[in-house]
Amino acid sequence: MLSLSLFIHMGEREMTAKVLGYGALQAKAKLAPYHFERRAPRVDDVVIEILYCGVCHSDLHHVYGDWATRYPIVPGHEIIGRVTQVGDNVTKFKSGDLVGVGCMVDSCQHCEPCDHGLEQYCEEGNTLTYNSLDKHDHMPTFGGYSENIIVSDKFVLKIPQNMELSSAAPLLCAGITTWSPLKHWKVNQNSRVAVVGLGGLGHMAIKLAKGLGAEVTLFTRSKGKEQDAVRLGADHVILSTDENQMQSAKNRFDLIIDTVPSIHDLNPYIPTLTLDGTIVLVGYLGDLNPFLNTAPMVMGRKSVAGSLIGGIAETQEMLDFCAKHHITSDVEMIDIQYIDKAYERMLKSDVKYRFVIDMASLKKDK
Ligand code: NAP
Ligand code: ZN
Repeated sequence: MLSLSLFIHMGEREMTAKVLGYGALQAKAKLAPYHFERRAPRVDDVVIEILYCGVCHSDLHHVYGDWATRYPIVPGHEIIGRVTQVGDNVTKFKSGDLVGVGCMVDSCQHCEPCDHGLEQYCEEGNTLTYNSLDKHDHMPTFGGYSENIIVSDKFVLKIPQNMELSSAAPLLCAGITTWSPLKHWKVNQNSRVAVVGLGGLGHMAIKLAKGLGAEVTLFTRSKGKEQDAVRLGADHVILSTDENQMQSAKNRFDLIIDTVPSIHDLNPYIPTLTLDGTIVLVGYLGDLNPFLNTAPMVMGRKSVAGSLIGGIAETQEMLDFCAKHHITSDVEMIDIQYIDKAYERMLKSDVKYRFVIDMASLKKDK
């Protein structure tokens, strides 16, 4: 058990001792060892020693300054760890439990989305695992590229027994972000699903859609990913740069999950949707260029939608589904000291298919 000695008592108030992580002090700065303070644990908190942390393209967007970000930042929201301490009111977890933390660590808990288990759409704004301010003490939140994290029990996930821990880490973001639209659009064994982009999210989308029984197609711009896509569960692969292949997919898909992280042309994908089909964007945030032509949408009652991670109950459901169906992520393990190189490789789509940091490597910086 992580003793309270981590926390220095200062009169009435407990202050956290410094925690070591990897952080960036400003946009585009290299990630480097960074000491920061975590809040003292509250009565409903779980203290977690971090064992593994997945590397999401969102971490890169924040570090590279693509998105509105408050610096310094310690990224990481695909966290697997071991409970070292629980607050007095915590009954769901005990010391020694293996747990997960995803992209969110709090929400208002009383708005309509929160009441419906959709904390990610909290009307007052959810508290992200990093790059947010805690709702209670207004301290900045710092993510999983660090020694430990303190999270309210409501936002802690149980890792099912016998799940391989390092390859389970990406389920906490890549897994739930693709699971949530698959469930929302009711994908089943009669569905035809396509996935755009074979990266971290894309490879989980293929595995999960296949696990739900759908026929699955990958759209990729990269020649050479075909065999992997089939091994991961895709029934078909379409090279999105090949017009003939795109033409042959007309009116085919009930749901397309688009995981591409940067601006790209959506127009070629719309005709590949069936009547009432939906393309759901989970990757790129921003204006589209070229503009989206509405004619094929109007003529075929086709939709363009977006989706953000998933709720906490839904995340637990996804973890339990993955345990039952033996689904985890395909990972390349790295030491934290490799993180900048990992980002460079991720930008070149050179990762199969998720980097996961072995957090024991942080000890080298002690
Ligand atoms: P990733 O591992 O880097 O994979 C992205 C894939 O998209 C690449 O492997 C590549 O696949 C394709 N791609 C990359 N650049 C492209 C381009 N310019 N044009 C066309 N295709 C391109 O990234 P990830 O971790 O899966 O994350 C994907 C996006 O989802 C990021 O923007 C991330 O921030 C976002 N995200 C959103 C949520 C949410 O809640 N909505 C949650 C997590 C992440 P091919 O080589 O096969 O083409
Ligand atoms: Zn993520």
